Amino acid sequence: MFVRSHALAVMTLAIGVLLAGCSSSDTATPASPPASPSTESDYRVPDGGQRTGAVATSISGDQTFSLQGVTGDDGGVDFAAYDESMDFALGAISQYWIETMPAEFDTKWVQPDEFIAYYPPEDNGPTCGGQPVGAVNAVYCYQGDSDFIAWDEPGLMLPFYQEKGDMATAVVLAHEFGHGAQARLGLSDQFPLTIESELQADCFAGAWAQWAEVQGLLGKQAVSQAVDAVISVADPQGVPWNAPDAHGTADERLTAFADGADYGATGCVDYYYPGFSQGG
Ligand SMILES: [Zn+2]
Repeated sequence: MFVRSHALAVMTLAIGVLLAGCSSSDTATPASPPASPSTESDYRVPDGGQRTGAVATSISGDQTFSLQGVTGDDGGVDFAAYDESMDFALGAISQYWIETMPAEFDTKWVQPDEFIAYYPPEDNGPTCGGQPVGAVNAVYCYQGDSDFIAWDEPGLMLPFYQEKGDMATAVVLAHEFGHGAQARLGLSDQFPLTIESELQADCFAGAWAQWAEVQGLLGKQAVSQAVDAVISVADPQGVPWNAPDAHGTADERLTAFADGADYGATGCVDYYYPGFSQGG
């Protein structure tokens, strides 16, 4: 069985959210300690969760990205506003790929089979490669003939939305969609180094952001939120390029994101191809 997973692991601190990196290991083990229980309990999410299964495939309404997290009664976050922003992001990213796959790669975009918001500690998410994706993660997972994008809602997405804003959560989702694009383009298992796959996914996220800009979807704070999001998911200084779980420093990740904005999805395939960092 072909299994590939990418996980975003975060460490939630009192002062904010630091995304420590998205492990490409099949175990999807967070690279950093899980959020403290006290932080998780700050968010009261609806029983049973939601947004499992199909999502919107286009934008509706006249929303834009730039909202700071809306405070409310659900443990400090307005869950309805958050939910609306996630639907907006998922619809906008889906629409981008539905348009871009045929236009740039002459193939049809197929939506991931499932979108799963899960709620640790009661629910540690779906399994990828036989292991639960676990707390404080966002992942794309392709196994056999199905795939999914999943995220820890109270431990990752809600704090990210609250601390950084709706464009920040959208960029995290766009990165995971980027891994989905790799699977559809037959690239997923071609990368000799994790970091190459991760930087290409960042590039795809940048390509999406540029499209969103052209569509008039980016509000005033959107770009700074996107930059903040990319920096916060970067590796600390000193992680070697070829480390098994390396994702890139802030500079490398921002460069990939900017290259996507400048050159589009085709540029991401041309410049961040498997082996690119080795001249291969
Ligand atoms: Zn990734």
